[in-house]
Amino acid sequence: MDTCIWNDKIILASDISTSFELEKEIRLASGRKELICPDAQCKAVMIYRHGEKKEAHFAHLKNSNSCDYNDYDRCNNLYVKNVKSTLYYHFMSLGYDTKVDVKLLEHHYTHLTVSFDDGSIIAIELATKSASASYIDKLSKLYIDRNIIVKWLIIDNIEAVFKENQTYYIKRSRLNESSNKDLIVIDFNAQRVAQYKADSDKYQYNNFDYYPVSSQSLYRYEKDINQLIVLEKDITLIGFIESFQNWKAQKHAQLTSYIEQMKLEKKRIEELYKRRSVIENNNLKVKDELNKQSGIPKQKPHISKHYKTLSEEPFILEKITIPRTRTPVDKPMYFKWAEDDFKDKIKQAVDEDISALKMLISKVYECDEAELSIFISLLNLAKSAPQNSKTIKCVKIMEHVLIQTKRTMH
Ligand SMILES: [Zn+2]
Repeated sequence: MDTCIWNDKIILASDISTSFELEKEIRLASGRKELICPDAQCKAVMIYRHGEKKEAHFAHLKNSNSCDYNDYDRCNNLYVKNVKSTLYYHFMSLGYDTKVDVKLLEHHYTHLTVSFDDGSIIAIELATKSASASYIDKLSKLYIDRNIIVKWLIIDNIEAVFKENQTYYIKRSRLNESSNKDLIVIDFNAQRVAQYKADSDKYQYNNFDYYPVSSQSLYRYEKDINQLIVLEKDITLIGFIESFQNWKAQKHAQLTSYIEQMKLEKKRIEELYKRRSVIENNNLKVKDELNKQSGIPKQKPHISKHYKTLSEEPFILEKITIPRTRTPVDKPMYFKWAEDDFKDKIKQAVDEDISALKMLISKVYECDEAELSIFISLLNLAKSAPQNSKTIKCVKIMEHVLIQTKRTMH
C-alpha cells in the first residue's frame, strides 16, 4: 500500500523513500507502531517497508482479512497506480480539488475524485479490459444513488481502431451508456490518450448507406495525457468535441457532393437516351418509307430489353465509368471500407446494380493502398474460385473497376 496515516496526516511511501532523513524518521515511527491504516473501518497498525527488490510501501503489521483499502490496493496493478498518480498531479496542476483513494461508497475506494465548489464530485474509476458487466453496473448504480458523476477511464493499448460491436464489454458500455457516449482510453505508460465516439448520423442516398453501417468505424482522437480537461463536469480531451463535429460535417459534405455528381450523371444519361430515341424513331420512319415504297409491311419499333424505362440506365459494363465530375481528392478519406463493404458492393454490381458499381469505382479510385489490397485479394479469390457465370462476371466487373480507376498494386 502506498499511503498510511502518521500523526493524523496521510503520508505516501513513494515520497518518503526519496529522502534518507525522512525514511529514517518514518522507520523509527514504524518501530513505535505509530503508522495507522488509512481505512476508517480498519485503523490497524502498519509498518513501512523498502528493500532492493520491493519499492517503498506500507503493509499491515498483522494480516488483515477485512481491510477495504488492502483489498483495493491488491487489485491495482502498477499501470493503474501509474495512471492514477499521473492524473492526480495533472488535475492538481490545473487547479482542481483532486484526491486519490477516496472511500465514497461502502467497501469501495474510488481511484480519483475531482470536487467542485457547489459540492458536486466527479468520481474517476480506472478500469482494465477485465472489468465485468456486473461490477460496472453495481458501481454505476451506487454512484447514481449517491448523486455522484462517475467517469470510467480505461487503461489499454490506444492504437486500436475498432468498431463498436467488436470490442470488449467496458468499452462498449462507455460508447452506449456514458453521458456523452464517448470512450477514453489511456495507454499503459500514462502518456497518451485516445478518445472515441460513434457517429449516429445517417448518410443515405437512394436507400443506400453511403458509409455502410457494417463498417462504421468509431471516431478516434489522440492527444497527450496533459490535454485531458474537466469540461461541464465531464472529462474530455481538449478540442475533441469540435474535431468530432468537423469530421461529421466533412462526411456529410462528401455525401452531398456525391449526390450532386449522381444527379448530373442521371441528367446526362437521360439526355443521351432522349437523343438516341429521336434518332431511332427517325431511322424507323425512313425504313418504313423505304418499305412502303417496296411493298414490305410496317415493322413494330424494336425496343432493346435493356431499356426498361427511358430514365433507367442499362447495365452495359464498358459504359459505366468514373462519374465525369469526379475530381481527385487531395484530402484523406474519412471513411475506410472493410472487406465486407467491398464484398457487398461487388455482389450488388454483379446483380447489375449500377449505383453500387459506380460507388465501387469511386471508392477504388480514391482508396488507400490497404483498401486496394483488400480489393485485389478479393479479385484473386474470384479468379481462383470455381468458374461459373457469376464468378466470370464478377472477375470481369472487378477488372473493369481497376482499368477505369487506373489502379494497380505498388
Ligand atoms: Zn487496513
